[in-house]
Amino acid sequence: MSVIVGPFRLSPELFVRTNLRYQCSEQCNARCCEEGVSATLYEVARIKEHADEIQPYLIEPYDFSKWDVSRPADIGTPLLNENKPGEQCWFLRANRLCALHTYALDKAIPVASIKPYFCLFFPLTLIDLDVNVTEIGVDGKAYDTCLVPSEREGYLFRQFERELRRVIGDARYFELERRYPD
Ligand code: SF4
Repeated sequence: MSVIVGPFRLSPELFVRTNLRYQCSEQCNARCCEEGVSATLYEVARIKEHADEIQPYLIEPYDFSKWDVSRPADIGTPLLNENKPGEQCWFLRANRLCALHTYALDKAIPVASIKPYFCLFFPLTLIDLDVNVTEIGVDGKAYDTCLVPSEREGYLFRQFERELRRVIGDARYFELERRYPD
C-alpha cells in the first residue's frame, strides 16, 4: 500500500529495507540518459524555442523539425544512433552532461524551464494508479544504473532524501524519518 504523507502518495518500495545505495551524485555515468526520456508536447515546444542555440551543445546537429509529436502519449526525447550501438538521448553531450541543463546554466535561465520534468525528477518517477491517483516511486532505470549494492541496510526512501525533500518538503520528510526510524 502507498504511504501517505500530506497530499503525497509514496510507493511502498520506498519503505522496504534494502542494501542499495544511490551513487549518482558521486559517480554519475549518465547511463540513465541512454534511452532518452518521455516528454510532453509542451516540453517539446519549450525546447524548440531554443533550438538554434542548443545546437552547439550537441554531439551532432539535430533537425528539430523531425521531432515526432503526432502521438502525444508516446513522445520521447530524440535518440542519436537510434537502434544502433551508441544509442543515447540526443541531448546527452560527449562529456556525459545534459545539453539542456548546461545550456540553461550558461544562459542563466531556470533549468526547469527547459529540461523535461522526468529528467528533473529522476531517479524518482510518477506511477499512475488510477485516474487522478498518482504515487511517487523509483524509476525502474535507477535499479540498473545508479542504485548499487551497499553493505549497510536501510529504508530505500532515505537514499533519495534530497530528491524527496524537494518534492514533499522538509517537514513531511522529517515526518517520514519519524515514522521509519533507521
Ligand atoms: S534531456 Fe538531458 S537529462 Fe534528460 S535524458 Fe536527455 S540528456 Fe538526459
